[in-house]
Amino acid sequence: MRIVFIGPPGAGKGTQAQWLVEYLKIPHLSTGDMLRSAIDEGTAIGKVAADYISQGQLVPDPVVIQLIGDRLMEPDCDHGALFDGFPRTLAQAASLDDYLSESGRALDLAIQLVVSEQHLIERLDGRGREDDRPEIIRHRMEVFRQRTEPLLGYYEERGKLARIDGVGTVEEVSMRIKDAIESCSPPKTK
Ligand code: AMP
Repeated sequence: MRIVFIGPPGAGKGTQAQWLVEYLKIPHLSTGDMLRSAIDEGTAIGKVAADYISQGQLVPDPVVIQLIGDRLMEPDCDHGALFDGFPRTLAQAASLDDYLSESGRALDLAIQLVVSEQHLIERLDGRGREDDRPEIIRHRMEVFRQRTEPLLGYYEERGKLARIDGVGTVEEVSMRIKDAIESCSPPKTK
């Protein structure tokens, strides 16, 4: 299965991704984690990404598309993937669709985790990441609204959007995600 996770910072994408990748036996492709590793390793991509991330801005589309395109060529992605934090713009979503369809593959589902802004701020407060400072969080939320929310319409038009209430215990949200996955029939591609 190929699933995209969409939700604002603090919606619980990372937490839910952890069990979901084990449950579905698919690799977890978090562009945020990939970019943070690139920064730690001091690679060329890491050098480009560092300032954008620390300011809560999106890393430019070509950089992220290249990163995910390279990762998708690895054999563990042949039978599925969970995309966490990607795509974040319409250009990234269109690139992903093009990339998958070129190899006869397709996305099965886009899962939107719906969480109110008040809940998000409370959750992010306890996380302690450098880009979780209040002014940067506010900016990341604004970026989500402007750049990433349009993806909801994109996936809805294609009949792929599942809206999941992201408020509740990890187990409660997990059950809702499982139900959405079970009611989504696999497409007729490999
Ligand atoms: P995340 O861990 O998904 O919250 O991502 C942390 C930061 O990495 C974001 O605030 C962006 O600066 C950058 N980032 C992660 N994924 C993407 C993406 N798909 N497109 C652009 N920037 C990204």
